[in-house]
Amino acid sequence: MVFCPPAPPGLPASDPLVVLQDVFGFDEFRPGQREVVDAVLEGRDCIAVMPTGAGKSLTFQLPARILDGTVLVISPLISLMKDQVDALHALDFKAVEINSTLDWGERQSRLDGLRRGDYELVYLAPEALEGQLRELIQGCPISLLVVDEAHCISQWGHDFRPSYRKLQRLKEGLNVPVLALTATATRRVAKDILRQLGMRKPAGYKGSFFRHNLNISVRKKGTGNTRNEILSLIRRKAGESGIVYCLSRKAVEQTSDFLRERGVKALPYHAGLPAEERQRNQEAFQRDDIDVIVATVAFGMGIDKSNVRFVIHRDMPKDVESWYQEIGRSGRDGLESDCVLFYSWADVKMHERFLNDIDDPDVWHQKHQATVDLFRLVESRRCRHQLILAHFDEIMAPCDASCDVCTGVTVEDLAAEHMPTGSSRTRKSKHVTSTAGPVEPEEEALFQRLRDVRKEVADRQGVPAYIVFSDKVLRELAAVKPKTPHEMLDVSGVGPAKLSRYGDTFLGVINNWGPSRASQSPSVLRRVAPDD
Ligand code: ADP
Ligand code: MG
Ligand code: ZN
Repeated sequence: MVFCPPAPPGLPASDPLVVLQDVFGFDEFRPGQREVVDAVLEGRDCIAVMPTGAGKSLTFQLPARILDGTVLVISPLISLMKDQVDALHALDFKAVEINSTLDWGERQSRLDGLRRGDYELVYLAPEALEGQLRELIQGCPISLLVVDEAHCISQWGHDFRPSYRKLQRLKEGLNVPVLALTATATRRVAKDILRQLGMRKPAGYKGSFFRHNLNISVRKKGTGNTRNEILSLIRRKAGESGIVYCLSRKAVEQTSDFLRERGVKALPYHAGLPAEERQRNQEAFQRDDIDVIVATVAFGMGIDKSNVRFVIHRDMPKDVESWYQEIGRSGRDGLESDCVLFYSWADVKMHERFLNDIDDPDVWHQKHQATVDLFRLVESRRCRHQLILAHFDEIMAPCDASCDVCTGVTVEDLAAEHMPTGSSRTRKSKHVTSTAGPVEPEEEALFQRLRDVRKEVADRQGVPAYIVFSDKVLRELAAVKPKTPHEMLDVSGVGPAKLSRYGDTFLGVINNWGPSRASQSPSVLRRVAPDD
């Protein structure tokens, strides 16, 4: 990338690519981002259906810097809101969130700010709104209304939110363009979103749902010792973040205890825990204080953690959509992640029991069939990615490198690799899609050092670590070892705002790095830019 100095103050940069590089520090748009940004800048209604991790947020955050007025973002996830706003502050955006966790006075003062046009972005939880959204918008300088997680408006989606009803027929009599974003790929849901929001002649973009960085493998239960295999899989990933999903609360407790007794930094999460404990455990995971969260499906919606490196299903999920959604919580930073599913027919039977409450025989049958479909899918010996995408009406060739069927590497092999004895087959090397080659020990050590520093910086500022820099950025810093601010700007994910905030600290670590100085004095930390 050619270094171009940020536009002087007062001269708004209006070229999306310049803003992408100068404000966000990314080299290029990801697939679909440019199309959606252009539609938004033209003032068109737009729906974007892109998988988790594709970078949907950028499609409204970037226009927020270019457009006059405020981008109002409707989001159902309060915990995620705070993190997004923190991340935006790290990029010097004027952004706030308005939700029910704020006291009345604070909420009113932010609403006043919104009316005055003080912010570039405002995140709003619909339930925090007493009156009509339409009235609010009419009184404010809103340039774009974003409906994030737009499938929440649809009964057909997997996560219907009653508060999203406030968005129905929103467009009637309103002259504000709407951008609807979702990772739910079914046509039925997309149509429902357009209809319910009353969108007019919308531009549409649907991205590929293939996630090549998710290494998917499955294993039938009953032949091995699932608990021990899970432990080995986790030990292979020592020090990295991961989720273990279980079907029942009891299984969550038992698995979490088992792992903890064996030295894994793990905590449980399920709806039966007191709200406070749940919150605490989730935060510990989010802030990298623990490595593993063992959870029921109650966990995940509010999680926006980019460095989840593995998702293990101790039991089979209820359908293909849920499975793909849950494993999709890993690898959001684009780095490789392992997704391992343990399954059995007994799991199908267990799901059947959860359907007991359903009276309508058609609904019962539909849901049961969805579970059986997943069972059939994982029993098949065809490329996992190909089968999953076929389920979402997308056709692709076998992935060739990112699933156990294509590579021939089984879960047993993976779990055995970590056993002190026993054979292990070498993994068929990944090609083309792989970004990460083998890492030199010295580079790995620097990466770990940068992670430690990042954690200290993040803890001081009270934000999750990935808001400072993602794992991907730290990997590249460790590989490239930039010596100057100028060189550091060349790293994707480092823009001027983050450079001025964190550049000195991280450059300090890199410049002092050497084999003889493997253990660093903590003094570099004093150079952290003050919080603001
Ligand atoms: P989604 O909402 O689609 O699940 P996010 O908006 O949370 O995805 O983005 C996922 C990650 O991708 C974030 O860490 C974000 O910073 C990163 N990202 C977004 N756009 C780009 C880009 N053009 N280049 C590199 N990284 C990007
Ligand atoms: Mg998102
Ligand atoms: Zn495959």
